This record gives sequence, structure tokens and C-alpha cells, in this order.
Amino acid sequence: MDLLNALVDKGIRREVPTREEALAVLATSDDELLDVVAAAGKVRRKWFGRRVKLNYLVNLKSGLCPEDCSYCSQRLGSRADVLKYTWLRPGEAAEAASAGVAGGAKRVCLVASGRGPTDRDVDRVAETISAIRERHADVEVCACLGLLGQGQAERLRAAGADAYNHNLNTSEATYRDICTTHGFSDRVDTVRQAQAAGLSACSGLIAGMGESDEDLVDVVFALRDLDPDSVPVNFLIPMEGTPLAAEWNLTPQRALRILAMVRFVCPDAEVRLAGGREVHLRTLQPLALHLVNSIFLGDYLTSEGQAGQADLEMIADAGFEVEGAGTSTLPEHRTDLVAVRRRGAGTDLPPNA
Ligand code: SF4
Repeated sequence: MDLLNALVDKGIRREVPTREEALAVLATSDDELLDVVAAAGKVRRKWFGRRVKLNYLVNLKSGLCPEDCSYCSQRLGSRADVLKYTWLRPGEAAEAASAGVAGGAKRVCLVASGRGPTDRDVDRVAETISAIRERHADVEVCACLGLLGQGQAERLRAAGADAYNHNLNTSEATYRDICTTHGFSDRVDTVRQAQAAGLSACSGLIAGMGESDEDLVDVVFALRDLDPDSVPVNFLIPMEGTPLAAEWNLTPQRALRILAMVRFVCPDAEVRLAGGREVHLRTLQPLALHLVNSIFLGDYLTSEGQAGQADLEMIADAGFEVEGAGTSTLPEHRTDLVAVRRRGAGTDLPPNA
């Protein structure tokens, strides 16, 4: 297929496909699906081999959010049955992180619900990062705390955070349909602040919220413009008690096409299979490993994931290997967190990183 050959060539050269090419990937038929996966798989293997990075999510604070993101079970007024608690203590969070590291996780993602952190919250997260570092000097730590205020990205970096996650989620044109309490540009600003502070940016999307193919391509191109190092792709799990509870409109085939499109547009970024993979990809999850080079291990956020052991077996059965702590995730021309950490004192490393 000419389209796929062209996309493979561009992906290997790190060239941006056209919007029409990205839309054409989403419009391919089920008969073409394995060809699409094989083509995007070539791009994935060019930049990441057969390695799979494992990430583990620690929920520092859950529920009780004043924002109204309609996909989120922790939103203001949500009737979803989720745990609600305020700030895990540093020792508790480090204990939780250890479970992920023992399961092979290379990155720990510290997530807190809410619009954004207060300065006191940043202090708490700094203490948590120190507690994790005492046990696991090499683990990558990513914070996901919402919209950042002045100077907070720098403080997180100084506290030893390697990365910051803040997703764009959907296209700028439809952002107001999913959230009214903050805007698309607020999200872009936070990603830029994180990058400016020297944090590795992690920013992705949620598919399955009723968006069009154009919306999906728009958000992925907006991400490409921001150039985050990692791009998590979530598939909406419609939760009872939220406005999107009835949005069951993804198929495993559609989910694979979306992942392939993201890989072609962001060929050398860490594309991470995130929320909703079990629910929407179901038995086709192993095929997704040909497209993404990173997954969340086990439980994440407010949804149940496959148990860690099942993930490890899936990776091995599909012919992939778990990426070790000493291996760089990203290609040489991108931020290399392992190399940055190894360079040690005297560089831009914070003292406790
Ligand atoms: S996504 Fe974050 S900011 Fe939005 S409602 Fe959920 S916890 Fe709050």
C-alpha cells in the first residue's frame, strides 16, 4: 500500500506525515489492519527495537477535584464509585512505588487529582520523591499534579522529578465540550513550563470521547508541535456517574488504528499504552505492543489494569522484552534520562536526583 510505504519512510526519517495521511490511517479497513500494524511496527522497531518500558502509577490523592473534566470519575459532582482520599504520606507512596519497581517498572508516575498543586503540595511531592529515591536511586520519577503555577516546575525539578505529565486530551476545537473549568491553552502552558524547567514532558490524549477523526489528528499534531518525550494514549473507560458514561464507541481495531496513527506522527517519542487498554483492546492487546514501546504496569488511576504478572507474560509471549533500568528509552537525539542521571553532579542534575 503506497500510503503505508510512505509513512514508514517518513517515520524512519522522523518526518511529519501530512494530516491527510494521518486521517487515511484512521480510515483504513479491517482487512488492512494487519498491514497498518506491520508498517507502524517497522517505525516502532527502528527507534525502540523490541523493548517495552514499564511504568507504575501511584495515586497520591484521589477524588475531591473542583474541576469538571467530563471523562473523569474524580470530577466535581462525580457520582462514580471511586476511592476518595487526600495525600498519601511519603512513606506510603514510596511503599507503593516499590511494588511497581519490584514488578519491573522503570518509571513511577505520581498522580494527584485536582486543578493544580499548591506550594505546600509541591513540598509534599518533593518529600515523596526523596522517600522514593532513598529506596530506588535509579527509578525515573514523573509528577502529574495538574496545572502548574509560577516556579512550581522548577521546584519539582530541583526536588528530583525527571518528568512531568499533563495531557492535552482532545483537540483545541472540542476542548470546551469536555471541560469548562480550564482551557486547552492552560494545558499547553503547563507542558511548556515543564519543558522550560528541564523536565521531560509527557503529554497525550484520551480517545473515545465522541471525537471525530479530525479531532484525533488535531490533538496528535498539537502534541507533535509540543514535542513531548512521551505520549500516553488513553482509551476512555466510560464511568457510571460521569457525563460520558454512555460513550462506548471504540473497537479493538479502532484502538489499534489510533495507536498506529500516533506512532506515525510521533515516530521517535515514547508512545505509551495507558488507560482503558484491557477494556478496549481486549484480546488484541499483544498487537498493540508492535505500535507502542511503553505501557502502564498493573493497576492505574481509578481503573483496574491487568495484574502485573499477566502483563509480563503478554510481553514475553509477543516476543518483546522489558526495558532494563540501565537502558535509555529514547533514541540518542532525544533527552536521555539515564545518561543525564549518570553524568552526576556538576551537570544540570538536581542534588538529590
Ligand atoms: S482530570 Fe484532573 S483536573 Fe480534571 S476532573 Fe479529573 S482530577 Fe480533576
